[in-house]
Amino acid sequence: MTLKEQAAGGCLSGSFGRASDRKRLDGSVAEQAPGSSSRHGLAQRRRRSTVRRVAFVIAATFAAPAAASLDPPAWTRPITPYHLVGPIWYVGTEGLAAYLIKTRDGAILLDATMAENVPAVQRSIRAVGVPLDRVKLLLVSHAHFDHAAGDAAMVRATGAKVVAGAGDVAALESGIPPGETSYGVIRFPAVKVARAVRDGDHVTLGGVTLRAIATPGHTPGCTSWTTRVVEHGRALKVIFPCSVSVAGNRLIGNRRYPGIVADLRASIARLAREPADVVLPFHPEQADVRARAAGQRLVAPTLLSALMRDAAQEFERELAQQAKKAR
Ligand code: ZN
Repeated sequence: MTLKEQAAGGCLSGSFGRASDRKRLDGSVAEQAPGSSSRHGLAQRRRRSTVRRVAFVIAATFAAPAAASLDPPAWTRPITPYHLVGPIWYVGTEGLAAYLIKTRDGAILLDATMAENVPAVQRSIRAVGVPLDRVKLLLVSHAHFDHAAGDAAMVRATGAKVVAGAGDVAALESGIPPGETSYGVIRFPAVKVARAVRDGDHVTLGGVTLRAIATPGHTPGCTSWTTRVVEHGRALKVIFPCSVSVAGNRLIGNRRYPGIVADLRASIARLAREPADVVLPFHPEQADVRARAAGQRLVAPTLLSALMRDAAQEFERELAQQAKKAR
C-alpha cells in the first residue's frame, strides 16, 4: 500500500475516505492508533494527507520520512519480537508485519515493511538469534510502500534474494506501485527481484517449503504464502494472506488494471476456500496476531473464511459505490 492506500486506509481500507464503512479486515488504521482522533476525524485527516502527499509526489520530491509522519503511528512503532508457531517469529512493527522463518540453512523473511522500519526489523531478527547475513530469502506480499519500501535496504544489509509474484515485479523493480487509485502514486525504493513466482510455485530453504498462492486484485502480483509447521507435535497449515482490500484502487475504468474486479472477487473466494489453521496477515491486527499469540489462540481454522466473508461484503459494497459514482 501506499500513501494513497493509507490515506485511503491503505492495504487495510476498502473504502477510501469512508471511515464509517470501514470493516475490521480493511479498517485497521483506526484500530492501530488507539487514542487517536475519531474515525470521522481520521478520515478527514487522511483526505487532507492524501492531497498533500499527491502534491508532494507530483513535485517529484517525495521523501519517506516526511510521508511517514502521516502514517498510522503503529506502523512505525517498534515492538519486541515474539514467537508464533514452529519456526515462525514475528519481527515486524506493531502495525506492519514482518515474519521470519528459521531454517537449518538460514532464514526466510516475509516482507520488510516500510523503509524507516528496517533498523527495527533488523534488531528484531538479531534478537531472535538470526544474524542478518543468515537471511537468505525475502518473500514479498505485494508492491506497496508499507510492505515493500524497506526491501531494498533489507537486501543491502542481508544479501537476501527477493521472491515476488510475477505481476508485481515491474512495480518492485521500478519503485512505482501498480494500478490506478483514487489517491495517486506513492513511490518506494526499487529492488531487484531474483525470482518471480506464479500460482502453485514452491520456494524451499533448509527443509522449509512455502507455496505461492496468486491472489491478484489488491495488486496484480499480490501473493499469499502457505507452509506447514509442527508445533508441540501437531502439524499446522499456516497461511500468510496478501491484502484483498480495495483500498483506493479504481474498480471502474482502471486502464492500467482492467481485470481488477474479477481478480479481487476471485482471490477473496479462493482464500475463503483455502484451509488454514493459522492466519498471519501483513496487517497483523486483522487477525489479532499479537493477542492470539499471547493467549495461545493462534490456531483458528475458521478465521480465514470469516475474514474473507467480511472482505467480500466490503468489496461488493465498494464496487457498487464506485459504479454509482461512475454513472
Ligand atoms: Zn497494499
